[in-house]
Amino acid sequence: MTGTAANAEYAQRWQGSLMNNYGTPRLPLVRGEGVKVWDAEGRQYLDFVGGIATNALGHAHPAIVEAVSTQIGSLGHISNFFMAEPTLALAERLLQLFGRDGRVFFCNSGAEANEAAFKIGRLTGRTHIVATEGGFHGRTMGALAMTGQPGKREPFLPLPGDVTHVPFGDAQALAAAVTEETALVIIEPIQGELGVVVPPAGYLKAARAITASTGALLVLDEVQTGIGRTGHWFEYQAHEGVLPDVVTLAKQLGGGLPLGATVAFGRAAELLQPGHHGTTFGGNPVACAAGLAVLDTIANEGLLENVKRQSEKLRDGIEGLGHPLIGHVRGAGLLLGIVLTEPLAAKVQQAAQDAGFLVNAPAPDVVRLMPPLNLGDDEVEALLQALPGILDEANGDE
Ligand code: PMP
Repeated sequence: MTGTAANAEYAQRWQGSLMNNYGTPRLPLVRGEGVKVWDAEGRQYLDFVGGIATNALGHAHPAIVEAVSTQIGSLGHISNFFMAEPTLALAERLLQLFGRDGRVFFCNSGAEANEAAFKIGRLTGRTHIVATEGGFHGRTMGALAMTGQPGKREPFLPLPGDVTHVPFGDAQALAAAVTEETALVIIEPIQGELGVVVPPAGYLKAARAITASTGALLVLDEVQTGIGRTGHWFEYQAHEGVLPDVVTLAKQLGGGLPLGATVAFGRAAELLQPGHHGTTFGGNPVACAAGLAVLDTIANEGLLENVKRQSEKLRDGIEGLGHPLIGHVRGAGLLLGIVLTEPLAAKVQQAAQDAGFLVNAPAPDVVRLMPPLNLGDDEVEALLQALPGILDEANGDE
């Protein structure tokens, strides 16, 4: 089927079969290759959303296709009573990238990775948790208890208790909230879902010092910032003097497959004991094989360098447009927020889509870019060329 009928038919089927929790889908997508995706009518888009920072290598990357096909063709899912090579190899590789001894718990999503962190915190014997206002850690009840966005929490109260939310980026507020009773402090190095909010320099270091002085665990939620997204394997590695006790990962770790990880160091690594926690698909060999392909490809193709290079080009290029709707660009690597001078992000998102670019609007005045890490020069150039027209369109100037 071609023409508008194809998209319309998808919309009708969606209404009759899927829950409405995400609202009306913007577009049925049927195929992808690298940064390009195509809709049901054959229109091509450049994907600067990347599955919300998930498609580390873009769509249909040969390394992922090969790793997944080979693994599913030899050993698919086994239970956690057994052990498969890709699971072990991915845990070892992650620890190597952290450069520290530790232990990994594999799961299927970011929320699940944070649930495990929550339990690790409670197993310290303390209950109190400190999280940040505006922070996002997932939609399951424990993760939601730590999420600092009231609108997402309120329909589901009561949530697991004894969680204090403090303003993000405010080391003094953190110091005042953390006590000898605090089990863990959870922080995103950059608040992605709130609109790519970067804390002041020294914040993570201060959080490390505050938690160390009271014996609380420092949990860094790197679900959105980790695995090369910001030009470092993990964003905290860009901050001197920060060694977290727990790091949670998901999204692009699986390169498009559902894969999450809770990585713990020191005493935090020893707290989960048999019977405490688990999940059927955690450590699934196919997902872990994809994870290894992601890490190999980032290393082999110099993608951390590419992230830094394309980030700079995007930042300079976007700010250099001098468009009245652009305030500034914030973020790190290929997790960028274009801060608008007016709350027109949803309109920019739509105008971009009409022009063949998929972007995202996490806040009324922020347009978020999180393209694959192997984003090329041509794609950056294409966006920079199209952006003035997109912004004019959103601004009602055309
Ligand atoms: N933590 C952060 C920082 C996230 O950005 C997200 C997802 N946007 C999550 C946790 C939840 O991840 P998932 O949707 O895989 O459960």
